Amino acid sequence: MYINDSIAAISTPLGEGGVAVIRVSGDRAVNIGEKLFRRKPDGGFESHRFYYGKIVDPDDGKSVDEAMVVLMKAPRSYTREDVFEIQCHGGYLVAKKVLGLVLRNGARLAQPGEFTKRAFLNGRIDLVQAEAVIDVIRGKTEAAISLAQNHREGILSGEIERIKDNILNALTIVEAHIDFPEEEIGTDNSNETKKIVSEAVEKIKTLLEGYEEGRSLREGVSVLIAGKPNVGKSSLLNALVKEMRAIVNPNPGTTRDVIEEVVNIKGLPVKMFDTAGICETDDVIEREGVELALEKVRKTDLILFVLDSSSPVDSNDLRIAGVLEGRNYLAVINKCDLDEKISLPESLANREPIYVSAKSGEGIEKLQKAIYDSFFHGKAIDSREYFALSNIRHREALVNCLKALKRFERNVTDNMILELLAVELRDALQAIGEVTGETIREEVLERIFERFCIGK
Ligand code: GDP
Repeated sequence: MYINDSIAAISTPLGEGGVAVIRVSGDRAVNIGEKLFRRKPDGGFESHRFYYGKIVDPDDGKSVDEAMVVLMKAPRSYTREDVFEIQCHGGYLVAKKVLGLVLRNGARLAQPGEFTKRAFLNGRIDLVQAEAVIDVIRGKTEAAISLAQNHREGILSGEIERIKDNILNALTIVEAHIDFPEEEIGTDNSNETKKIVSEAVEKIKTLLEGYEEGRSLREGVSVLIAGKPNVGKSSLLNALVKEMRAIVNPNPGTTRDVIEEVVNIKGLPVKMFDTAGICETDDVIEREGVELALEKVRKTDLILFVLDSSSPVDSNDLRIAGVLEGRNYLAVINKCDLDEKISLPESLANREPIYVSAKSGEGIEKLQKAIYDSFFHGKAIDSREYFALSNIRHREALVNCLKALKRFERNVTDNMILELLAVELRDALQAIGEVTGETIREEVLERIFERFCIGK
């Protein structure tokens, strides 16, 4: 695609740093470079070579900063356009000044994500890969980044292409019979299209099944630590975070706010919440905390229900067990370093409780594994082959594609006319094309790239 203006932005974070990078992309990149950069001996730019020199203001010839520059000639660049990058000193004002010169000499300020958007519009990457760039930048754990890198490299796109090929092949057969109606669609061909489409259906189902895992990895999961006062919730949070951030206090009911921490559990980003003890109370402030905790219970992915091994189960514990009924929770028996006085009711004993000591650290690893397994069931998520769906936009497009294929299958069974079969297959292609961006609407594109930072 030919885009006729040139864009520029500071691609490094604003503020003091060793270097700042000003990136220019488009037809005028070379010209801007020639106008602003001086070196000895004089000369043009060879592609993909660094040059040392200085940036000057062409209006008065004054030097603005010393710099290293590199030209990446189209199509061998991030955007597939000519890209000129200036590395100057990393001061806020210096970088701004260099950018100002670039803007005065033929480029306009880039919008957030516009370099990546151009890489997409120019066909260097598809939309799944473009969206993965932001996931790589924002990834909270190594495993989350590994999944994003696999997406960025096109592993998920490859699977989407294979599904699309299946649908296209089926459509080609159906359309051939529409074009040559004298050749009745034979059972052979009909079976062939059914087989091809059912392959696509299976592939989509597998992708959709992996979505919750992929989403957990990309967005992180929420884990709430619940339990009556003084069972050791704050201490447990600290043991999991391994830094004493939550306030630990020996008086019951003193953790009133919801405290949040993000911890990395075997690669899974986990937002942990410690809340006020869920118990009956007359204290107004504390009651507000309890309300907040109950609200959280309804919204979190997993709850750690903490009990105190050194005291018998009481009505408060049972009340909480009642609140948690039907929820995804692990029973965690804390203070196992003390004499055991707890005897669990059957409903809890059946849940394979995990015995830990927040104080000594005993059982904490087992707890981490149990948290991980409740989302990933022991699967390795940082492998090269792992490319689970992780983006709700992709999921919705694939759900629509699947629906169209299911309608196709029903219509084949009902011996519907060929034109109708073709319509469903075209709908399916339209839907799956949205994943990689072939059939995407402009406003959706804009929404996607708005989330990027300027200069990416
Ligand atoms: P919360 O009210 O549930 O958040 O409980 P805290 O984390 O504030 O802990 C309450 C008291 O129990 C504190 O005095 C902690 O030091 C103590 N405690 C917490 N965990 C353990 C543990 O595993 N073993 C022992 N012996 N004491 C603990």
